[in-house]
This record gives sequence, C-alpha cells and structure tokens, in this order.
Amino acid sequence: MMNISEMQYPIKENLKKYFGYDDFRPLQHEIVLSLLEQKNCFVLMPTGGGKSLCFQLPATLLPHLCIVISPLIALMKDQVMALKQNGVEAAYINSSLHYNEIHQIKSKCLLGKIKLLYISPETFIQSKEEFISKLTISLIAIDEAHCISNWGHDFRKEYTQLHLLKEMFPKVPIIALTATADKVTRQDILRQLRIEDAAMFVASFDRPNLHLCVFKGAAEKNKIEKIEALYKKYIQQSGIVYCLSRKTTEKVAEKLNQSGILCKAYHAGMTSEERTQVQEDFASDKIRLIIATIAFGMGIDKSDVRYIVHFNMPKTIESYYQEIGRAGRDGKPAETVLFYNLGDLIILRKFAEESEQSEYNLEKLKLMQQYCEANHCRRKILINYFSESMFQDCSYCDVCENPPKFIDGSAIAQKALSAIYRTGQSEASTMIINVLRGSQNKDVIQKNYDRLKTFGVGRDLNYESWQSYLLQLIQLGVIAPAYDENFVLKITDFGSEILYGKRNIFLTIPESYAVKSKEQRNVPKPKSNASQKVNIRSPYEIDPALFDELKALRRKFAFEKNLAPFIIFHDSTLKSMCEYLPDDRSKMLEISGVSENKLTQYGDAFIALILDYKSRSHT
Ligand code: ADP
Ligand code: ZN
Repeated sequence: MMNISEMQYPIKENLKKYFGYDDFRPLQHEIVLSLLEQKNCFVLMPTGGGKSLCFQLPATLLPHLCIVISPLIALMKDQVMALKQNGVEAAYINSSLHYNEIHQIKSKCLLGKIKLLYISPETFIQSKEEFISKLTISLIAIDEAHCISNWGHDFRKEYTQLHLLKEMFPKVPIIALTATADKVTRQDILRQLRIEDAAMFVASFDRPNLHLCVFKGAAEKNKIEKIEALYKKYIQQSGIVYCLSRKTTEKVAEKLNQSGILCKAYHAGMTSEERTQVQEDFASDKIRLIIATIAFGMGIDKSDVRYIVHFNMPKTIESYYQEIGRAGRDGKPAETVLFYNLGDLIILRKFAEESEQSEYNLEKLKLMQQYCEANHCRRKILINYFSESMFQDCSYCDVCENPPKFIDGSAIAQKALSAIYRTGQSEASTMIINVLRGSQNKDVIQKNYDRLKTFGVGRDLNYESWQSYLLQLIQLGVIAPAYDENFVLKITDFGSEILYGKRNIFLTIPESYAVKSKEQRNVPKPKSNASQKVNIRSPYEIDPALFDELKALRRKFAFEKNLAPFIIFHDSTLKSMCEYLPDDRSKMLEISGVSENKLTQYGDAFIALILDYKSRSHT
C-alpha cells in the first residue's frame, strides 16, 4: 500500500528526473519518506552508500529551502555543481566566496529561489541572526554529523553550536548523516542536536565481496613480494597500498619500480599539481597501483579497485574500514591485506600518547590492535563495531579459513622471558629475537650477549614466528614494552610466574607467511550478495576503446564548462553506455546516472558518438 507521502509527492519521478536513477539504494526510500513526514532522522551509512540523495531528493519535493551544514568546504562546490548539472537550484556560502557573491546568494535564498543551500558551520554561526533566522526552511541536513561529538574522531568546535537549529526551527525536520559513528557517538549526536526522537537508519556496513586478511610480523621483503603478487594477479586492474609515512610510500614505490612495476607514490608532501596528476592517472587507468598515505582516495569514484594493502597498521578501525571500502565497489570479489607488526604498534602508540586526545586515541588503537590479533572471524568484529550484530562466521576472512591452533606455549614463553631477564630487561624486541635466534649481529657480540645461557635457544623458530610470539605475550600481559624507555621489554608479575613455572600459558601457532599465501590462492567465492547491485558484465567485456572515446568526449565538456569530469558523468555511467550502447534519447535516459537535464545538455553528443561507433564496428 502506498503511504501518504508517496501519493502526495512525485518521489520516483524526481529520482529519475533530477538524479537519473530508477531505483533507490538500501534505506534511501525509507529515509526520504520519513523526512517528507517531517520526522527527524539519523543516518549511518558507509561512504559511497548514497547519503546525499537522502536529503537532496526531498529538497526537490518540499516547498521551501533545504539547508545543508557541511564542514568540507572543498566538497561543497562539487556537490553544488553536480546538483546544478542536474537542474536543481543549489548554492553554497563559505569563506572562499567574495562578499558580493555571498550577498547575491543570500537574496536569492530569501526570495525562495534556491532549493539547497550548503553552508559551513562557521557561516551558520556568523549569519544566524541576520540571515538564517529570516529564512523559510523545509529541511535541515547535517552532514558529517560525527563532528559534533567529542567522542567522534573529527571533532569540530563550531559544530557544538548546531543545537541552536532546533531552537530556531522547532518544526523543521533535521537529518543527521555520518559514515563513522560508534554507538556512543551516535547517542551524543542525537542529544546535542536535540533530536533524541529521531528515526534511526543504520545501513549495513557489510561488504561481503571484500576478503579480509591480516599478516602478523611479515618482514619488509615479504610485504613487497605480496604486493608484487597482487599486482600480477590483477594485472589490468587497480590497487592501492596505504603506508604510515611519506618516506615509506616513496621507498615502497621505488622498490616496486625497480622490479618493473608501474606505480606512483602519493602523499601530502607533494605539490597539489603533482597530487592531482597522480589522481588523474589513477582515475584514467594510466597508473594501476598507487602507494599512498591515508590522504589518497577521498572523492575517488573508481569501481574496479581489486586490492587494498595496508603496509602498516592503521590507527583506527574507522580509517581502516574506510580505506578497504575503496575496493570492490562494483560488488565483485576484492582482496584486502593488512600487515601488522610490533614496530608499527609501538610507533602508533607513541603518536597516540603524545596526541591531544590521547585517552581516546589509545582506546581506538587498542580496538584496532584487537582486530589485528583476533582469533575469531574478522568480519564479525568489524560489523559489530559499526552497526548491526553479525552472528555467523563469514567464511571469507583469513581466520575463518584458517582457524588458529592453540598449543601449550609455556616453554616458548620461558625462553623469551629468560632472554629478557638475562639482558637486564633493557632491550627491545629486535635484540631479544636476535639473542634467541643466536644471531652474530654486531650489537649482539659487542654487548657480549653471545655468552648468555639463552643465546640461540630459540634457533628452531624463524624471526617472524618470534615476532608473533612476542606480540602474543604482550597481548596476554606476560611482558610489556616500556613506552617511555625506547620500548624495551619488561617482565610483568604474571610473566614472572610463568618464568618460574608456576603457571602455564596457551599460544597460537604463527601461520608461516609462505603457508598462508599458498592457501590464499584458493580463495573461495564470497557468499551471495543480494543487497548490493552487481554489474552483470565485468569491465573486460566492454570495449575499452569506446570507453576511452566516451571519456575523451566527457573531458571536452568538462574543459568547456570548467567542471570535474565526474560531475558530467560518473565512470559507472560511461561504462553502462559501453554496455548498452544507447542510440536514441529514450534509451539514453534509461542509463543510470543520466538525468533529464544531463540528457538535454550532453545526450545528443554521446548518442552521436555511440551511433558512429556502431557503424564503425559493423564494417
Ligand atoms: P556518500 O555521501 O554516502 O558517501 P554519495 O551520496 O556521494 O555517498 O553517493 C555515492 C555514489 O552513489 C554517487 O556516485 C551517487 O551518485 C551514487 N548514488 C546515490 N544514490 C544512488 C541510487 N539510488 N542509484 C544509483 N546511484 C546512486
Ligand atoms: Zn570470517
């Protein structure tokens, strides 16, 4: 049965007319209906889930202005351009505009000529009395709503003034949207915005087509080899490697280049021209592999990224999930690999301890560490962290595929503890492993450690295995790195009991790196993925030559209009054109992403190109 709003408003018509879509993504329809019924809403949806449409579509249906508060000034312009391209009257006000421009936009808003107005929280504070309070408003959207919470990872002071909105416009529905909010943050957002009664919409964060895998304690050489293997496995497809530091990105890129792999580094130390160039090369498939710091990937709409590697451990589950989320947007299987070792953990702990919100950052890091060290299904941990509860194991992560085997690790622990004890609890993990393995390393000899009784008692295990065991011993509270003393390892009280044989301890056998890579070759197919729309054809079945031609035509328009190419049409829209070869206006309008306004502006040119292509391929 249709509900009242559906009868009252041309919802589906506007979805096609202004956005070019035939169907809603999960939850979008319900959210739109709630807003039309003037209910406050809270939306938690992963990046790329389609949050913007949730308020943009109602804005085209409601009689008065929709205000959008967003902290991302750089993205405001793109959003407004995209709306205008679709024939929706939109504008933005932020500090980048000239006074005259701001004045003009304000007059238009007061005259009711604008449907969507994007403003920064600063603009809201500055102009709330002389401007905002005079407006007639149908809807208020708060984007990146986690910024309001102290507990959110991106706290902005200006956001805390937003509680005034409900006081100024008690009847106007507010929609708060975010991609990252744990349960505490969520409640905080509602309380601060005074919308405790909000309808909650929590989209599934599950991305069942992403394979999850963590390697503990891999040496740098192994990491590079793994990247090479992925590059070769997905030769005509794309991948991203994330590193902790600028220096590492450059080093890794150079190593890969030396083995004949075409890739580029990307980090904040490069000029903005250099960075734009790398982004463009990646978007246009000129470069298939990018070695980047976390700054890379925002706003990139590339559906065929097949693998993501974390060369170093990420700081938080939020950023990790956002980064792996850039793989497999097309719904097809994609691999994610995280390398985790003690060195990274130690550096990240140090960063966290020295940071402003140290307590908070340490807690987030601890959760990330637990994920890396998990002995049960990794997807379960992620999904439970973000949103719904997941009860079954996924069978598509490394732990599900290779459940850990426990052994009595007391003797192993005693060897390590004894090495730590005999070196005076004054050495960090690398030296302890060297002593255990009987290394002839210069430092070992210089300090006379080769004369210790423990020297070489752990020769039977390789370096990575010892790394893994030491990590487990730290995790279990047997030993503790002294963060204020260059991370030398100390024995805890619990550790003493084990050293003197008063207690036993169970450890998991480290997976040898080589064994794991072999088993990973038979990665099973992901479980069915009904909630996500899966493209029917793989990108290989479309003609890449036609795709290039369509992109060139798009570039021409983008250049003429001074717009980013994806604002004209997304890659996915061009790919659909390659697939369905629409050769008249009505067929063109059926392509996802072609709105009426875009059909009018660009349709004929693209149809002409496709007709030409068809005639060429017949001869
Ligand atoms: P988010 O803000 O949640 O990260 P966006 O609103 O930017 O996501 O949407 C992500 C992408 O999905 C955009 O390219 C958008 O045009 C597209 N999109 C949104 N809703 C739909 C829909 N109903 N059908 C097809 N594509 C959609
Ligand atoms: Zn699993």
